[in-house]
Parts: sequence; C-alpha cells; structure tokens
Amino acid sequence: MNSDLKRKLQAILELETYANNMGFSKATLLLARDILLDERVRMHCQLNLCTNYGKNLMCPPYLPSVADNRHLIDQYTFALLLQLQQELDRNEKEYMRQTFDVTARRFGQMAVNLERKAFTDGFHLAMALGAGECKLCDNCVIQKGEQDCINPGTARPSMEGMGIDVVRTFAAAGLDLAFTSNQLTVAGILLID
Ligand code: SF4
Repeated sequence: MNSDLKRKLQAILELETYANNMGFSKATLLLARDILLDERVRMHCQLNLCTNYGKNLMCPPYLPSVADNRHLIDQYTFALLLQLQQELDRNEKEYMRQTFDVTARRFGQMAVNLERKAFTDGFHLAMALGAGECKLCDNCVIQKGEQDCINPGTARPSMEGMGIDVVRTFAAAGLDLAFTSNQLTVAGILLID
C-alpha cells in the first residue's frame, strides 16, 4: 500500500473517531457505493407524503435526479453514517414533532461542523446530507418564489430527497432507526472523497 493511501485511510478512521467523540450517538464508516438509492423513495417525495414537496430548496424538485445522485455518490469513496438520538419525556404528537425539529437542527449543525473538519483534514469535497427537509428557516424562501438559499453555509440536501433508501442503507450497516415512545433518532450522512 502506498504511503498516500495509508495516510488517507488513517485520516478517515480518525474522522470516524472524531465524529463519535463530538456528540453523535453513532458514526459508522461505509463504502459510498453501498449507499442504496431507490426511485421509489423519490416517488414518495412526489406523492408529497411529508407535505413538503416543492416547499424546500433542499428537497425535490430542486435536487438532481436519482440517477444523477447515484453518479454523484459513486464519485465518493467513503461515507460516515451519522445518528443523533434524543430521549423523549412524553408521548405527545406535537411535543415529539417539535423535539424532532430541534434535534434535526442540532444534527444539521453538527454534520456541517464535521464536514468542515473533514475539509481541513484534506477531504476537500466532503459533503453532509441532512435528515428530511431543511429546517433552518420557519418557511423556506422558495415558498416566496425565491431560489437563493439564505444559509448556504449550513443548509444541506435531504438524503431522502436525494433518493437514498435511508432505512435499508442504515440497516445494512447494522444501525437501527426505529422511533420508540421514549427515544427518537435523527440520521444523516457525510460523503468523503
Ligand atoms: S436555510 Fe432556509 S432558505 Fe435555505 S434551504 Fe433551508 S429553509 Fe430554505
């Protein structure tokens, strides 16, 4: 193995350790080619099952096609699957929704911080993918017809919106995404070149 490759592998393993130490509940390394994409996931977006279709710049139809996303992901070598878990005090729908949104915002900031760390470690094309629609603004600017994100440094594409089968990808890596009455899980991915 040449010394450049050795250095790169060492840096990736150190990034995994760094992610596990910075507050994520779990960070697991995966080959980027093992991220599963499925047109049916994108179809779920188009069916508007989450009620956000067309309302967020980090979701379809403002993201590339699933085929283009497959090509994009295949240009990366590794991915870090990331999870952030949050305990729930009570089993009330509105409380759980608000707790999920707060946790997803916290997760998004942590994922971007990790992306920046990867950049400074030499992975200059590292890119974080978020959990669901971007929640940084109460209402995304696209809802006013504006196409320029006001937080380009922090907003990242929805991995589901990219067409990633999140449940199968995480399950294949041995990670459980199940919600329970006393704990929720937010997930995302850092792509590493
Ligand atoms: S940061 Fe605001 S404007 Fe940008 S994608 Fe997120 S919600 Fe939309």
